[in-house]
Amino acid sequence: MNNNMDSEQNAKIEQYTDRCVKCGMCLQSCPTYQKTLNEGESPRGRISLIQAMLSGELKNTSKLLSHLDSCLKCRACEDVCPSDVPYGAIIDAAHDHIESNYKRGLRYRIFRRIGLDLVKSPALLSAFYSIVRLYQRSGLHWLASRSIFVINTRFAQLNIALPTISKKVTWQTYYPPKNTHRGDVALFIGCIANTLDLNTLQSSVSVITKLGYGVHVPQNQVCCGALHQHNGAKKQAFALIKKNYQVFGQLKIDAIITTASGCGTVLAEGSTENAQLADGSQLADGSQLADGSQSADGSQKQQQDINDISLKIIDISTFLSGISWPKNISLRPLKKNVAVHDPCSLRRVWRQHDKPYTMLEKIPEINLVSLSHNDQCCGAAGSYMLTHPQMANSLRDDKIKSLEEQPFDFLATSNIGCALHFAAGLKEKHARVEVVHPVVLIDRQIKDF
Ligand code: SF4
Ligand code: SF4
Repeated sequence: MNNNMDSEQNAKIEQYTDRCVKCGMCLQSCPTYQKTLNEGESPRGRISLIQAMLSGELKNTSKLLSHLDSCLKCRACEDVCPSDVPYGAIIDAAHDHIESNYKRGLRYRIFRRIGLDLVKSPALLSAFYSIVRLYQRSGLHWLASRSIFVINTRFAQLNIALPTISKKVTWQTYYPPKNTHRGDVALFIGCIANTLDLNTLQSSVSVITKLGYGVHVPQNQVCCGALHQHNGAKKQAFALIKKNYQVFGQLKIDAIITTASGCGTVLAEGSTENAQLADGSQLADGSQLADGSQSADGSQKQQQDINDISLKIIDISTFLSGISWPKNISLRPLKKNVAVHDPCSLRRVWRQHDKPYTMLEKIPEINLVSLSHNDQCCGAAGSYMLTHPQMANSLRDDKIKSLEEQPFDFLATSNIGCALHFAAGLKEKHARVEVVHPVVLIDRQIKDF
């Protein structure tokens, strides 16, 4: 980032942080503050630290960075702030500033680089999954889980948490509707979900086509950029968002459907100021974001194209609960107890956490219960569950306790990161609760017609 862009971005962050009147109304809703009662672990404290860092009053010490790194970016603090402080944009931009101006430790830099490069490159990710799959199928995974050398180590925890890696699936570019044709949509398959949440993606195609929509699955779509955006690589995040807007912008579709709310919100926010903070240029600078071609009437038209694409991005539950269902579709009853988890991205950013309930209520005899502590982040938070396992597990286990107290059959969540985090916790506790995406339950219950 050049100096001009840096000072422009810093001025913007300072403008945002100045909105904070230090009233402390956000403290009660901040999970890291509630767990530690440390002001440096609160939204107000972190904003003060960012202000001091930008003014040069405080140097980027490892202590200061650890307070910023331990933020979950759950944005619960935004919900209650009377001054409308855009905390999400502030913390992402602060990380971008840190990565551009401060040299982190070697271990941190290696892991960050590997993580960000992996999700960005489908070829690298696919090679990585093949190696992990071989590790699981060769018996090494089984052996490692019983080895005295790894028991009680962090590796042992990761080994237990490791989900089964499925075989790579080749997607058709278009799935025709299986009912009277009423329109076409596109499916965002993501990077991680494309292997670790195949059931959800396949169920989505199955349900949507049965409701009369054709489903495009563009082959050249890329990672949503969420990990990059939250880890101080906003330029890379912006490039990924831009690529996806170009790919989806070429299709004649009614909606772009995402099945992981964390990815969906980052993609949808691509046209907002949050993403524009990524580089000095505005999205409407003629940088060919929307369709790869320069528009004849200039940047205004281009911004309109971008907004049109952004507005089409919709979570699968919102889509399925918002359309009318054909009369020839009916669902089998499901006499089971289902705890519904509200991911922060669906609750705080999209504000549509009621939609999975509305969709699941279509299943006769289902018993839906809102998971206890739903107003608090589960701790998954992108890569947070790997970088801050203690805090992440403590937040998750608050919720898991309630699953142990009542006989639940399913835990339904709309975000792959949260699903993996819960599945690992439940596996550790040998709990027999299946973690599913709500659309998987819908797919299972739809009667053949
Ligand atoms: S509620 Fe808003 S204004 Fe008050 S301390 Fe928190 S961030 Fe600042
Ligand atoms: S984003 Fe979440 S963890 Fe971070 S300061 Fe706000 S409430 Fe606390």
